[in-house]
Amino acid sequence: MAKSKWDERSEANLLPLSVSDDFVTALKEWRCSREMRITATMECELCGKKDLHYQFEIINPERNTALWVGSSCIKKFDIYLEDGRGNVITTGKDTYLIKEFKHQHMTKALMALLDTQPEGKIGIYPKKSLDATCARAYLERQKLTPKQVNYLFLRLEQEGIPFDKQYFSISDTTGNWDMLMTMKEPQFQRIELALTKGQREGWLYRHKPSAK
Ligand SMILES: [Zn+2]
Repeated sequence: MAKSKWDERSEANLLPLSVSDDFVTALKEWRCSREMRITATMECELCGKKDLHYQFEIINPERNTALWVGSSCIKKFDIYLEDGRGNVITTGKDTYLIKEFKHQHMTKALMALLDTQPEGKIGIYPKKSLDATCARAYLERQKLTPKQVNYLFLRLEQEGIPFDKQYFSISDTTGNWDMLMTMKEPQFQRIELALTKGQREGWLYRHKPSAK
């Protein structure tokens, strides 16, 4: 059978970093490190595809080598994944990894925020209690409104806690959509990186209909 471009490129990239010199066998040597990154400019180190949104790290324990691959290429590997309860993940492994990685990132940032001792109030509410309310909305229920995201970004920045806005997201409900539409431009700009394309375009359409 003729080799596709994907086969050719992937073999050329994978085999020098694997033990086996047979592509199908070599694919089985690799494991998922559960590291992930979100990027707009990198390319898949397996097949060379450009402009990836998500990259996953895979490692070859025997050769002690690593590659960053895209979400369609991670599926070519026979990687073993379990959730926190020991259930084996068999389908949607890329989606599962993205969700898990975002969850870990958000949890780490929010736990660090709960460890701070802020003085003062915002309106009538002490910052300390607002911090707890907003952080718990995510930590206990995995739900955040646009205003909670805005507040958390403000506070994480104030406290100098490192975090990546792209790993946060707003729960997709009608109420949250309506709340997002009422947000002023500085708030929108603060949370823009946490929005989906649809959320972002919805706000822009409402507030800046003349802009592209
Ligand atoms: Zn690829």
